[in-house]
Amino acid sequence: MDPRKAAWWVMERLESAGYQAYLVGGCVRDELLGKQPKDYDVTTDARPETVQALFPRTAATGLKHGTVTVIHHGQPVEVTTFRVETGYSDHRRPDKVVFVSRLEEDLARRDFTVNAMAMDREGRLYDPFGGQKDLKERRIRAVGNAEARFTEDALRMLRAIRFSAQLGFRITDETGRAIRRMRHTLRHLAVERVTAELEKMWSVPSPSIGVQYLQEWELLPHLPPFHRWNHIQKAALLPAERFDRLTTREGRWGLLLHDCHVLPEQAARHLRLLRLKSADVKMINRIYQLAFDSRHWHPITPTEGKRLLLQHGTEPVLQSLQWSRVMGHLETETAERLEVLFERWAKEMPVRQLSDLAIDGSDLIRVTGEPPGRWVGQALAYLLEQVALGRLPNERSRLLEEGRRFGK
Ligand code: ATP
Ligand code: MG
Repeated sequence: MDPRKAAWWVMERLESAGYQAYLVGGCVRDELLGKQPKDYDVTTDARPETVQALFPRTAATGLKHGTVTVIHHGQPVEVTTFRVETGYSDHRRPDKVVFVSRLEEDLARRDFTVNAMAMDREGRLYDPFGGQKDLKERRIRAVGNAEARFTEDALRMLRAIRFSAQLGFRITDETGRAIRRMRHTLRHLAVERVTAELEKMWSVPSPSIGVQYLQEWELLPHLPPFHRWNHIQKAALLPAERFDRLTTREGRWGLLLHDCHVLPEQAARHLRLLRLKSADVKMINRIYQLAFDSRHWHPITPTEGKRLLLQHGTEPVLQSLQWSRVMGHLETETAERLEVLFERWAKEMPVRQLSDLAIDGSDLIRVTGEPPGRWVGQALAYLLEQVALGRLPNERSRLLEEGRRFGK
């Protein structure tokens, strides 16, 4: 079901039970910008127990914080009770959440003016902090006293930067000054939350505005896990627009590592410190290594190129060339020529991985009568390369015949 319709239905039902209900936060901001919201959040004066009682299908997602997820025709809608938060003694989590009865109080606890607007079903906008004006002026401004808001929750500083990249907005002078003054509290943040914000930043077309703020305001030396890395004081995020020219998240993580002076042999360890998933660590590390290697890929023969594609995979090889081009490891023209060549070679290869091969390990064991062992993998790798290079057809009978030679 259409998420907006589901939110509408939820609001209607809350209202007919005598409660207030509004769309709030990111969805209001995105609709005013003419963008498709990712999800629709509803805020209400009904208490969480009441919300649970009013709807047949709910999940108690964040009950402590007043959030109930209502599921309507399979579509989840987050419904949060008006609330304020108090006592952020650790700079990251409120000690206490208190439910309140007025929308304005709930809006006042939100981070930025553009995120602190609500809209009712008639399309009336509630905008006590000038969010609409800031949207027009394309700027991120903290609600209320910026320094106080960042003292409560240090993540908001990083969110300001992430939203600036996501929306292409600048951060107002006052809010920026507060970030610089409060940046030492960034060290209280959990690595997972930092990584999640950076990950969101890498998913936008032009993260460079955000990167530029990180750089100008020297935030990395305060930000976990970067603050503990060697040489981080000297980290020079070189021209931020490179982050726009590298279009993949893997490439952007790699670029950040590079600008933090992380050596290729240290890359995997640093990626793990960022608590990235192990598949991501593997992929980003591979691209990082290849990007350094790619300086030696010119000139290259088709056989050498295809071997690289087989060994590392098409995606990492192509991504590493993009990186080399952006970083100037390779001349633009050379990198572009190599990209075209590798793309062509990848297309030409009749097989790229073992699962593409017309036979598998058990076939080899059967035709040779040999017991399983390391030789099976070696034989398959050999056959894969022969087929990929066009020296053998990908036909069962020919491969089995060739495979027999691996028996004693
Ligand atoms: P996105 O499009 O990235 O999801 P969003 O505005 O919906 O943007 P969320 O992180 O989903 O961002 O949060 C929803 C709303 O909750 C925000 O718009 C903001 O009003 C409020 N909010 C979220 N995190 C904080 C925070 N750390 N401090 C204050 N308000 C917050
Ligand atoms: Mg959201």
